[in-house]
Amino acid sequence: MLGPVLLAAARSDRMRRVIAAAPLTRPVVNRFVAGDALRPALSTVRSLADAGLDVTLDHLGEDVTDKATAHATRDAYLRLLESLRDERLGDRAEVSVKLSAFGQALPGGHDIALEGVRQVAELATAIGTTVTLDMEDHTTVDSTLAIVRELRAHHPRTGAVLQSYLFRTEEDARALATAGSRVRLVKGAYKEPASVAHQDKKDVDLAYVRVLRILFAGEGYPMVGSHDPRMIAIAQELAVRGHRAPDSYEFQMLYGIRTAEQRRLAAEGARMRVYVPYGADWYGYFMRRLAERPANLAFFLRSFSPT
Ligand code: FAD
Repeated sequence: MLGPVLLAAARSDRMRRVIAAAPLTRPVVNRFVAGDALRPALSTVRSLADAGLDVTLDHLGEDVTDKATAHATRDAYLRLLESLRDERLGDRAEVSVKLSAFGQALPGGHDIALEGVRQVAELATAIGTTVTLDMEDHTTVDSTLAIVRELRAHHPRTGAVLQSYLFRTEEDARALATAGSRVRLVKGAYKEPASVAHQDKKDVDLAYVRVLRILFAGEGYPMVGSHDPRMIAIAQELAVRGHRAPDSYEFQMLYGIRTAEQRRLAAEGARMRVYVPYGADWYGYFMRRLAERPANLAFFLRSFSPT
């Protein structure tokens, strides 16, 4: 019941102000976010890389409402990639972008976002790394997948994200499961109407398995974005049955969630990539993490009570 309320709050400016001002919010945010600035995020990347984990970095931000902020997002990603190059981390770390932070929702936003992310993809390719386009709410899927297709013409390793809660996703997966295509499969983190998405967790999980089967049977590079032990076991089973080499797919989890499991999978020889968000605009990301798990909310609320 609380999940939908928190997801609605994730888009409320009033709630943003209340939560951000609470003195004890920060320590809880720090569990999921690797600092406000690039420097601490790079230290996190370095220590994850030293532990045998790959990384995808997200410069936090979404839903920008003006062009100047969209350009600032692009510039932040260009600085991030330059730092990865200078620190020689380009072989361990890629970047994840949200197109709403590149202006996708502005008038003419498809082209504005494409132009911004194209520059990011060019620099990523030049330094030997990749870009994955996060998937946001269902109204953005057509535009985001079209931008993936455009970018892939010159940057074939550009990653797409599919959400198993959407009814359309099996069809999208069939279209994307082609040679060289990197596809992250997640369950989906937004509040979606029953007209477009499964509402029942059981149905979302069943759909996740069906899409996993499509991706593992195809010729692309599946990226299993889940903390769910059952989904991980099924992906491992599909990899064995399909005689897939360990470097032909990967697991992905979020920074701060099931950290021991991330290390265990890497130690077993699996490719494990950690999604590392950083930056001052952590509110929407943080609220979605609370919505996913009541225990996170309880932990957060306890931090307000006097001890
Ligand atoms: P669940 O069934 O939700 O959880 C399974 C188990 O994982 C839980 O029992 C718990 O042990 C653990 N767990 C899950 N979530 C949490 C949490 N917040 N805190 C603590 N433990 C938890 N969604 C999008 O809509 N678009 C994206 O682009 C996107 N990118 C993602 C990238 C990565 C690498 C990952 C891992 C997720 C991404 N997501 C994205 C979020 C995703 O859609 C889910 O909301 C989220 O991963 C929870 O689903 P789950 O598969 O982990 O399974």
